Amino acid sequence: MELLSVIVPCYNEEENIFDFYNELMKNEPFFKKRGLDVELIYIDDGSKDKTVEKIKELIQKDTRVHLLSFSRNFGKEAALYAGLKKAKGDYVVLMDSDLQDPPSLLPDMLRYIDEGYDSVATRRVTRKGEPVIRSWFARMFYKIMNHISRTEIVDGARDYRLMTRQVVDAILSMTEYNRFTKGIFGWVGYETKWLEYENIERKKGETKWSFWKLFLYSIDGITAFSTVPLAIASIMGVLFCVFAFLFIIVIIVRKLIFGDPTSGWPSLVCIILLVSGVQLFCLGIVGQYLSKTYMEVKRRPIYLVKEEI
Ligand code: UDP
Ligand code: MG
Repeated sequence: MELLSVIVPCYNEEENIFDFYNELMKNEPFFKKRGLDVELIYIDDGSKDKTVEKIKELIQKDTRVHLLSFSRNFGKEAALYAGLKKAKGDYVVLMDSDLQDPPSLLPDMLRYIDEGYDSVATRRVTRKGEPVIRSWFARMFYKIMNHISRTEIVDGARDYRLMTRQVVDAILSMTEYNRFTKGIFGWVGYETKWLEYENIERKKGETKWSFWKLFLYSIDGITAFSTVPLAIASIMGVLFCVFAFLFIIVIIVRKLIFGDPTSGWPSLVCIILLVSGVQLFCLGIVGQYLSKTYMEVKRRPIYLVKEEI
């Protein structure tokens, strides 16, 4: 029998634990027919509600369920990494616990793996039910990202993905602290089949991602998979030097021909403000990379375990 590991990160998802389990196990006849054993690994990302209790209830009923509980909230990326490390399966699938990643797709995904694909990924083609501004920023992010990064990062891609052991090991070989899984998937490569579906709204509970959290996450993504912003800082510096040089020539020539006295402090103030603004902006870009490097160099663990069942 082959083994399928299902990894489910949970942060305050008490209302969703049972629903998710029931929905997933609707695939059981298919798993049996395919000759697959299943292990279900819940990663509790420091939940403050009854999530852990609910998972323990499940463990009482079904020995295929496992729990890994973090000492605090480390974020979804850390939870996914922990899950991949724990998984023993020949195939591993990552799924959200809020049923936005429909378990009914699993049979199709497994069929593609059997056809020879190394990984089957999903993307949502609509963003129904999401605030308009958030969708706009998300689309902008993917557009910019795909211009400045060589790694392919697909618009609307979800973390819902089925992988073979080989792909999982490749992902685990990337032990970086600043994890941006959407980029990591693209970076490791392998033959990937994309399945598309319409966005499914969260059934119960609330999204854990505020606009601000998403914004910071997008900066994580950019710094992790592109160094173009650093190049932009240098290019801007060169452009400003060229501009200043031309301006100096213009002023000298004007002085020699017309002899008019240099005038206008307002323009001077504007120039100083603009240039110092650009300087701070570029310094900030360098600072972003420096801070990421700083966190990498510290080599802190990506997560800490409180309990494991
Ligand atoms: N999640 C997590 N840690 C966090 C935030 C979220 O483990 O710090 C889990 C969450 O429980 C869910 C999945 O990540 O299973 C996706 O989160 P959510 O549904 O809030 O994100 P959205 O679907 O709105 O992007
Ligand atoms: Mg969700």
